[in-house]
Amino acid sequence: MPYCPDCFTEYVEGVAQCADCGTALVPGSPPEPPRRKVADLGNSELVRIRVFSGGTAQMDADLARNILETEGIPCVLPGETSAEVLPVLDVPLFVREEDAERATELLKSYLDEGEPLPSE
Ligand SMILES: [Zn+2]
Repeated sequence: MPYCPDCFTEYVEGVAQCADCGTALVPGSPPEPPRRKVADLGNSELVRIRVFSGGTAQMDADLARNILETEGIPCVLPGETSAEVLPVLDVPLFVREEDAERATELLKSYLDEGEPLPSE
């Protein structure tokens, strides 16, 4: 069965183009659709390590999540699972309790880099 490589819709034999997006179909079966990687948080206690706020909150939070996931630390942004399109003012970022300390340090070094250290 041909399928659309863009939206992974499967079509019957003989169809050459995706009805949805117009992309040329490719033969074979569609691979597993790309899925958002769901962090495996187990039953761990979640700790809020940071709250992003302001107009770039969601962007900052996404960046932070990328940083943490690159380091192998699963994290949760509660806002992303809802379908709400309301502007989010504060985006909290959660990690597992056991990762909290490391995650905080990582974000500090990545996100706060360049800021002058507080003098003693
Ligand atoms: Zn398509």
